[in-house]
Amino acid sequence: MNNVIEAVNGIKIPQVGFGVYKIKKGKEFERAIHEAIQVGYRHFDTAKIYGNEEALGRELQKSGIPREQFFITSKVWTTDLGYEETKKAFEQTCKKLNVTYLDMYLIHFAGPLYLEAWRAMEELYSEGKIKVIGVANFEIHHLEHIMKHAVIPPMINQIETHPEFPQNEMHEYLARHRILHEAWGPLGQGNKALFDHPELTEIAFNHKKSVAQVILRWHLQRGTIVIPKSSNPRRIKENSEIFNFELAEIEMKKIDRLNTGKRYSVNPTGYMVNP
Ligand code: NAD
Repeated sequence: MNNVIEAVNGIKIPQVGFGVYKIKKGKEFERAIHEAIQVGYRHFDTAKIYGNEEALGRELQKSGIPREQFFITSKVWTTDLGYEETKKAFEQTCKKLNVTYLDMYLIHFAGPLYLEAWRAMEELYSEGKIKVIGVANFEIHHLEHIMKHAVIPPMINQIETHPEFPQNEMHEYLARHRILHEAWGPLGQGNKALFDHPELTEIAFNHKKSVAQVILRWHLQRGTIVIPKSSNPRRIKENSEIFNFELAEIEMKKIDRLNTGKRYSVNPTGYMVNP
């Protein structure tokens, strides 16, 4: 079901991953991960603050699929930023997920002491404990600052991105600096205004696809990594079936024009209600 995108260091990242933020704990979580694995997802995105690292680790292990076949991302939370703190948070995350390394580890927000946290991440990367190191919710000035001090520049920035908030300037900046663009909230968090948009419903109708598939396909053709979330088995499958059609340039442009500047996260520091 997937395509891979290479990080600057050659590590291959499945372009479509599965986000696990806010999936209800217990049976619903187990079913969602089981379904995702069944239909072919191997890339999973969690974070300490989601409180489900342990459950995710358990479900991945239960599948019987070797660890190396999964691409697992987690994130260091704002209150764990700092050199020692980040190292400790990383160990706790690995313990919860029951893994010896992470495929990707991100600074969740540019909170205080993110430079010290980055130094810890660089060391963990050099020790082979993290394959790809990066950040999330960083603005251009944060990236400029971290790159000024870093030995290893961030390899990826995970940011809110969807047709209403395409992050055009950031998208170009990231490409110029060979930093990957990963979209959180790739479906605009299921926002009705987006899903009912006549432009999108028409494109979807013409391709015999759903609006969600069209949106995700738009991301893929921009070269962005996506991590849609759903706990509905039909939607989990649907969100993975986006490799058997292609949007024409004119359709891509129509979707580009849906930019309204509407975003769901407003505070890039990490002290917010919606991590
Ligand atoms: P999303 O854009 O993936 O939207 C998810 C919602 O869209 C679902 O709850 C459902 O309502 C709807 N949906 C999903 N598939 C659908 C389909 N096929 N048809 C119709 N509706 C559908 O938003 P998200 O969950 O916020 O983001 C995805 C992932 O990104 C998260 O699970 C998490 O892993 C990550 N994330 C990261 C940050 C960050 O700060 N780094 C913030 C938010 C989310």
